[in-house]
Amino acid sequence: MSDRMPKEDIDRVQRRLNQIWEIGKTDSSGVTRLAYTSEENVVFDYLRDELPREFDVWTDSVGNLFATPWPEAENSLYIGSHLDSVINGGRLDGVLGVITALEAIQTLHESSCQPPNPPTLAVFRGEESARFGQHTIGSRTALGMLTVEDFSATDQNDVPLWHAMQQAGFHPENLSEPTIDLDRVTGFLEVHIEQGRVLDESDDDLGVVTNIRAPVRYKITVEGAYDHSGATPMNLRHDALAGASAIILAIQRVGKEADNEGDLVATVGDITAVDGAINKVCGEVSFPLDIRSVNEAFRDQIESRILEEIRMTADQHNLQFEVQEIDRSSPVTMSEEIASQLAHAADSSESGYRFLPSGGGHDTMNFQQAGVPAGLLFVPSVDGVSHSPDEETYDDAVAAAVQTLIRFTLSEIEIANKKFTENKIEGNGGDHAF
Ligand SMILES: [Zn+2]
Repeated sequence: MSDRMPKEDIDRVQRRLNQIWEIGKTDSSGVTRLAYTSEENVVFDYLRDELPREFDVWTDSVGNLFATPWPEAENSLYIGSHLDSVINGGRLDGVLGVITALEAIQTLHESSCQPPNPPTLAVFRGEESARFGQHTIGSRTALGMLTVEDFSATDQNDVPLWHAMQQAGFHPENLSEPTIDLDRVTGFLEVHIEQGRVLDESDDDLGVVTNIRAPVRYKITVEGAYDHSGATPMNLRHDALAGASAIILAIQRVGKEADNEGDLVATVGDITAVDGAINKVCGEVSFPLDIRSVNEAFRDQIESRILEEIRMTADQHNLQFEVQEIDRSSPVTMSEEIASQLAHAADSSESGYRFLPSGGGHDTMNFQQAGVPAGLLFVPSVDGVSHSPDEETYDDAVAAAVQTLIRFTLSEIEIANKKFTENKIEGNGGDHAF
């Protein structure tokens, strides 16, 4: 089988990655391509021009783009990712998943292959929450998951999402209706950079994702009293900034303890000293709290522990506090069958791989939640760097990812036939257990 395997054109992949890099490129060689801005429109136009003429191409009501050389197929395996970025983000986040998917599909088409589940390229709008505070806008709309409330979210200039969509030339309606025919989608695959350092610190080219960690998020406000820094004795202060610091260290301690018991990360990634100044005791501080795990019950348990620590520490410092929940998402377990098949495909192309959880959310998780078996394949992030101009990966890993997609798409013939003819399940990755 291996000698007849179609071979990807890695120069074509690199050329496309480099050309897309130029769209929204920043002075520090990062990219800024926010959802529903002209930069995002331009990159979608670029991609459309790159598609072979024989492909059937269509765009849905919010600007997601789909393309396949097998439009008549009854069922299809969707493969793709997104093209938007955070502010001054990296050149590979999302784009790599789109370009590797296109390369796999184009290679199969050029080799006159007839995959059992002919793939469709799926390219989503607005995956990053950088502009509207809403993640995976395109894929959630494609799946009928975007709510009217989400749709009304505004950017920092108070432009609502629905208006930005209209300005970009789209007219969405019937939000609860998926824009794709889910009965005809047999599965969804996404290639993405890891955004962490697990793969880079191992010798593996590829990671097969088993679960996606999901966050519960709070805004914490600590209240004390504003006083003059020179005139107020230490024992008479209600110093919100000192108290918030103690709370943040307590959160870190509980998070570290929990990490020894199960999968958990707890982060305070920002802090605001409200009306703070060098000559004041600060009276109000606010900061966000983000707690994630692949295990929701465990996350709930640690969340209670952290909230109790916040209460005790605020008490010790004679401070008031308020906790406001701003997000609560459920972790997603990816399709075990797809993960096994991805591992099998990686293995047969002689790429080293490992199973691992994903710390961040991706378009693929929405498919899994909508009941479409979905998979996520990681390539290493060099030094774990992500959402930064320094984001990089390895050329060998990119080639391995394309080859794995090609083999996954073709190996389904083998697996389906074995299941059918021998009436037992084989070829699902065998001994590759989670
Ligand atoms: Zn991404």
